[in-house]
Amino acid sequence: MSEIWRLSIEELQKAIRDRMVSFRDVADAYLTRIREYDGEVGAFLSVQADTVLKQAEDLDRKYHRGDLRLESLTGIPIAVKDVISTEGIRTTCASRILENYVPPYDATAVQRLKEQNALILGKTNCDEFAMGSSTETSGFFTTRNPLDLERVPGGSSGGSAACVAAWEAPASLGTDTGGSIRQPAAFCGVVGLKPTYGRVSRYGLVAFASSLDVIGPFANTVRDVAIVLKAIAGKDRRDSTSSHQPVEDYLLETDKGVKGMRVGIPSEWLGSGLDDAIKESIQLITKRLQKMDCSLQEVHLPHTKYAIATYYLIATAEASSNLARYDGVKYGYRTPRPADLEEMYRKTRSEGFGDEVKRRIMLGTYALSSGYYDAFYLKAGKVRTLVTQDYLKVFEEVDLLVGPTTPILPFKLGEKISDPLEMYLTDVYTVTANLAGIPGLSLPIAFTSAGLPVGLQILGPHFQEAKLLRLGHAIEQDLGLERPRLAFEKAV
Ligand code: GLN
Repeated sequence: MSEIWRLSIEELQKAIRDRMVSFRDVADAYLTRIREYDGEVGAFLSVQADTVLKQAEDLDRKYHRGDLRLESLTGIPIAVKDVISTEGIRTTCASRILENYVPPYDATAVQRLKEQNALILGKTNCDEFAMGSSTETSGFFTTRNPLDLERVPGGSSGGSAACVAAWEAPASLGTDTGGSIRQPAAFCGVVGLKPTYGRVSRYGLVAFASSLDVIGPFANTVRDVAIVLKAIAGKDRRDSTSSHQPVEDYLLETDKGVKGMRVGIPSEWLGSGLDDAIKESIQLITKRLQKMDCSLQEVHLPHTKYAIATYYLIATAEASSNLARYDGVKYGYRTPRPADLEEMYRKTRSEGFGDEVKRRIMLGTYALSSGYYDAFYLKAGKVRTLVTQDYLKVFEEVDLLVGPTTPILPFKLGEKISDPLEMYLTDVYTVTANLAGIPGLSLPIAFTSAGLPVGLQILGPHFQEAKLLRLGHAIEQDLGLERPRLAFEKAV
C-alpha cells in the first residue's frame, strides 16, 4: 500500500483490521517521512525510531496470535510536545535548563495513549516552556512551516502542528495556555483542539500557567481529533483540577448533524487588524453555515479589548512562580563551579533560560510584587471574571461561536521575534478561551493563492467539546479541502 502516511487514523485502523498493512508498515511509513523531511521542517527534538519499530513488531506478533484487542489508537504513532513528561524519554521543554532531563514517569495523557497501545513517536519542538507564538524561542532550533519553509509554524506547539502538516505523524499532543494549539493548527492547515480546562489531566505537564494550561490533540481531521480526545480525557486522581464530567463518545457525536444550531459571530473578532483574506474566508463560511440550516447572529464580547493585557499579566505571574523550581538544585542544568549558593542560583538561571522566558519571569515577578499586586495581578483576576461572564452571557443565546483563529496569516521567520508586543498581539482571538476555561477548535477552511492556510475557530460552553466537533466535522465535510502538496516533497 503506498502513501500510508496520508491515511487518517480511522483509515489506518481499517487498513490494519483488513490486514492491508501491518503495524510495522505504519511505523515505517512515518519514520521514513521523518527521515526524509524533518531535516527541512525541524518538528522533532527527538524520535523514538528503534523503540517504535520494536513495539510495532511486537504488536504484529500479538495480532497474528490473536492476542491483541484493537482499540482506536492501537499501533498509531503519536508525537508529543516536549513539555509533556514521558518516562525514560528526554523532556526538555525546548529549554537548555532541562536539556538532559529524563522524567521517571509518564504524564497521564501519555499513559492513557499507551493503555491503548499507541506508539510514542517522538518529542516535538516548541517555544521554550511553551512561551511564544512562533516556535522561534526554542532553546534548540526553529521549526519551519511545512506549507512554506520561510514562514513560522506558529506556536508554542509549532512542532506538534508541523509534524502533522508534513505527514510525519497522524496525530500529536500539544498544550494550549493562550492559543498554543489553535494558532499553530491554523498556521499549518491542520485541526487542533483546546479542551475545556480540566477535561484532560495536567499531571506530568510541565507547568507554565497552571490556571490556563491544558493538553489537547492535533490531527488531519476533526474525527481523528475526536478519537484522541476520547483517549486522553477524564478524571485523574493525580490532578485535583481534572473534572468528573463524563467523557462522551466524541466520534459518534460528530455524526449528529448541525441542523438548527444557533451560531454566533462576535463582532469584536472582525474589526480592524484582521487580514482581508481571513475575513473573506470567514464570511464565506457564515454563508455556508446558513445553507446547512444553522441560524447565525452577531454577538458581542465587550471585554475582548482587555484580553491581551489580562492574559499576559496572569500567565507571566503564574509562570514566574512555576519557574522558581529551576534553581540547579534537584534537577536540570547547574552552572559549573559557582563561588557560593547565591551565585549558583543566579548563574544557573541566567545561563539556562532564554530571553523570552527571562522576560516573562521579570514581568510576572513585578506583577506579583508587594505594592503592585493589587494594581496588576488582582485586577487582572477581576477582568478575567468579566471576560468569562461575556461568554456565559452569549452562550445563553447561541450554541457556539465562530470566527478567525488568528488575525494574520503565518508570518515570515524572524519577522516578529524582536518585537515581543507584536508577537503577543497575534494571540488576540485565542487567549480569552483560556481565561474563561472554555473549549476551542481550529480547523482549516481555505488556502490562499499563495498556499497559506486560514483557520476557523469554533468556541463553545464548558465541556461541550462534542458540539464543537459536530460543527467542525460538518464544515470539513462541506468544504472537502485538501492540504496542498508540500513544496519540498520529491515529485511523485
Ligand atoms: N502565545 C501565548 C504565549 O506566548 C500562548 C502560549 C501557550 O498557549 N502556551 O503565552
